[in-house]
Amino acid sequence: MIKVAINGYGTIGKRVADAVAAQPDMEVVGVSKTSVSAEAYIAKERGYPLYIADLAKKSAFEKAGLEVAGDVEAMLKAADIVVDATPGGVGEKNKPLYERLGKKAIWQGGEGHEVAGFSFNAHANYNEAAGKQFARVVSCNSTGLVRIIHALDQAFGVERVLAVMVRRGADPSDVKRGPIDAIVLNPVTIPSHHGPDVKTVLPHINIVTLAMIVPTTFMHMHSIQMELKKETTRDAVLKVFEGHNRIGLVRKATGIKSNAELREYTQDLGRPRTDLWENGVFEDSVSILDGKEFYCFQAIHQEADVIPENIDCIRALMGTVKDPEESIRMTNEALGLVAIG
Ligand code: NAD
Repeated sequence: MIKVAINGYGTIGKRVADAVAAQPDMEVVGVSKTSVSAEAYIAKERGYPLYIADLAKKSAFEKAGLEVAGDVEAMLKAADIVVDATPGGVGEKNKPLYERLGKKAIWQGGEGHEVAGFSFNAHANYNEAAGKQFARVVSCNSTGLVRIIHALDQAFGVERVLAVMVRRGADPSDVKRGPIDAIVLNPVTIPSHHGPDVKTVLPHINIVTLAMIVPTTFMHMHSIQMELKKETTRDAVLKVFEGHNRIGLVRKATGIKSNAELREYTQDLGRPRTDLWENGVFEDSVSILDGKEFYCFQAIHQEADVIPENIDCIRALMGTVKDPEESIRMTNEALGLVAIG
């Protein structure tokens, strides 16, 4: 069993912990929190040993009925690998600790590429993780882009990509953030950071991205255009998506044409936390013009799509499963991830 610590038990960390616990070859040795919160109670409920960043706060946790197993360093010592899901920028500060203890570590998209020196996506570069100590799972938007670009690049070659991201303003529980009534250019300048981020995994891809933030909490919506190298048909592209285990199709017949209806759908499917782990490509938007111009809309659930990638990244860094497809299959099966459509 691979012993996994989760440093930072928030939106991403709590999902990674549950996904690790579901795997046949992994166990959660601990999760960490900075302060008493609802999530700390969930950790207790799930039976995950709770560690804290600052032991001076131990009595506050104990007064709240939350047993503290120790500090973050003690948690790391009990682990083979740590998934750092602390807020963007905090993870970087933890690097010297991981280095000192000689632990393998995975960061999230809120950290820069250089923190790990290697950015990861299971379908694109699983084997490159072999022998490395550190990796970073690219952000939710970049994961969604890498999956679809890589799939079409493998099938037809990709000459050029233009992607416009309409981004959720905040996560559902993130009451401190906006916007409430605005469309915020994020940033005004072009490209947004997503294009360069995609290139950390797919360096040969010619891509420009633009992004804006809107007042919604569930999912980003991407409008994507790609110029392909080989001529193809809409049916051939749909076949590529149908054969991909992390690209789902929002079928025309469902009548779904918004993030809100898609959320209702994942909820009704009984997905934990309504998570859409796969890309949600809208079938009716998939178009090929003049043989080589591809267009589509895809929904990306910001809280969920990076979770299976973190699980595969654990196996890739640990070197326990050499074949990416085998790891992806194990992860999907343990999560109950059968791509929609
Ligand atoms: P979050 O704020 O929901 O959770 C972070 C958790 O870390 C909180 O529980 C906080 O208490 C804890 N924490 C803070 N400082 C800590 C410390 N020093 N030691 C231990 N724990 C600490 O954040 P999140 O949304 O889960 O984001 C985590 C990372 O994942 C970021 O890099 C972010 O960019 C990335 N990410 C977020 C999303 C998303 O949509 N939320 C999507 C993809 C990637």
